[in-house]
Amino acid sequence: MISHKPLDIINHWKEILGLENETIKSVEVPESHFLNKELYPGAYVFYECDNKRWVIVYGKNIEQKDLIHEIGHIYLLKHLNWFDIHKSPRKERPKFNKDIKRLYNGLLDCFNEHHLYRFEEYMILHNEFLVSELECRYIHFNNVPLAKPLGMYLFFYIAYNFIIIEQIRDDLAFYINYFLAGLREHIIKKAKDVGKEINQEIFIRLDAELDKFNQIKDTRHIKIINDFIYEILSIFPYWSKKELLEQLNLISRL
Ligand SMILES: [Zn+2]
Repeated sequence: MISHKPLDIINHWKEILGLENETIKSVEVPESHFLNKELYPGAYVFYECDNKRWVIVYGKNIEQKDLIHEIGHIYLLKHLNWFDIHKSPRKERPKFNKDIKRLYNGLLDCFNEHHLYRFEEYMILHNEFLVSELECRYIHFNNVPLAKPLGMYLFFYIAYNFIIIEQIRDDLAFYINYFLAGLREHIIKKAKDVGKEINQEIFIRLDAELDKFNQIKDTRHIKIINDFIYEILSIFPYWSKKELLEQLNLISRL
């Protein structure tokens, strides 16, 4: 059993994921740091070009799984052969569309989780998380942007269909379907409230695109991931295809 101290967890997973050559600095901050940062629930990671190191910022009460998830993002970039580009400084500060970025990150997280899930230690933690989430009724989303529950839907649909082991999926099929149906209902209602209509038909198309995750989950090409995300996000009538493409390229730096 490894220590649960953040520094020990980081070092342990650096080794497991073959990231020994990377310098990772960890910075603990009070939980209040995250209160207004819905994008980063409890932790985030970024590359500091000047100091040539990764920085993981995490809240005092971070869960082990969430910390490993952040290290997983570094691993994913390596797996995609995207280190050099990600580590080079941006020429100018990019103007992101926050909603697209949020959904992009939610989908990228699926690839991250897929890779981490192959390690039994993480699989156990992730199973615990996914099983416990099934008890949540997501009805407390009234004060967040629509992209938040939408991003969760994309993430959980893939997690329950293509990441979690078959046995749990089969055993809990009823609860999983109930959970996803509840999330869909919530999104349809919230979308209506904010004048951005989404209906069941959109979800049918969405699910069909999300199903393609299974064929590409091991890809080593960021272009394939971007194309996958493009097809999914272009289902929503919230942005032009041109804007979507520009944003995906900006986020991934393609
Ligand atoms: Zn993430």
